[in-house]
Amino acid sequence: MGMWASLDAMWEMPAEKRIFGAVLLFSWTVYLWETFLAQRQRRIYKTTTHVPLELGQIMDSETFEKSRLYQLDKSTFSFWSGLYSEIEGTFILLFGGIPYLWRLSGRFCGYAGFGPEYEITQSLVFLLLATLFSASTGLPWSLYNTFVIEEKHGFNQQSKKQGCKNEEVLAVLGHELGHWKLGHTVKNIIISQMNSFLCFFLFAVLIGRKELFAAFGFYDSQPTLIGLLIIFQFIFSPYNEVLSFCLTVLSRRFEFQADAFAKKLGKAKDLYSALIKLNKDNLGFPVSDWLFSMWHYSHPPLLERLQALKSSKQD
Ligand SMILES: [Zn+2]
Repeated sequence: MGMWASLDAMWEMPAEKRIFGAVLLFSWTVYLWETFLAQRQRRIYKTTTHVPLELGQIMDSETFEKSRLYQLDKSTFSFWSGLYSEIEGTFILLFGGIPYLWRLSGRFCGYAGFGPEYEITQSLVFLLLATLFSASTGLPWSLYNTFVIEEKHGFNQQSKKQGCKNEEVLAVLGHELGHWKLGHTVKNIIISQMNSFLCFFLFAVLIGRKELFAAFGFYDSQPTLIGLLIIFQFIFSPYNEVLSFCLTVLSRRFEFQADAFAKKLGKAKDLYSALIKLNKDNLGFPVSDWLFSMWHYSHPPLLERLQALKSSKQD
């Protein structure tokens, strides 16, 4: 009863309130979904304390433990930084941060003798202020990540890296050539062009809707830059989520195909050892939760790639 009543109440709200509510609700839904996935993956880091049997050949227990501790620290970091940025974003929306910054830019332009008819100048000042704001709130996080987390896990000790042998470099090159030969590059370009076309088409349809601007606190002016921000970042966000998931799935397919191409060139063995070395260099963790991996990984998990390479090595 309560839920239907509140849904009814939502339906009776003016359009701009509904739009605003839906954007905020969607943002938190995505945030909670991703936090749920990250929590599943974190459980894997916590509970997989020994190299799984099938990985014994490719990873020693010291590297495994190093990688595990690094990923645990990274997941703690992204939990807090993610929570912070979700709350920051919510506050910006709730307290009208975007119209405030727009008015502030207008005031700065006014001091320089540019009146409200100079929308492009005002847009540039707005962009500058927005960039400064996000750089200053993001700086502590990125400093902490580089100088505390990566430092602690020895990312600045380049000397410890093992170089790939010439044959292994060649095998990786074979994989990259596979992307080209199989038309992956062209397909990606076509997809991104079609996506741009669709987005700008919808943008042209939506830019005239005043309620979209009103939803974000712009009642009597409709600046183009603000429309771009609202439509691309907020209104398209469900579409962007679906698209990015599809692209991730496609990218994983492409990786398998490029591996298979390198295999056909007779590079399976070298690619196999190169993948292990590269994974070791960036302290990748070889075990992942299936749902987390399906949602996030543009490259298939190492183990699956190695198994695919192996299976046709015997062919
Ligand atoms: Zn690739």
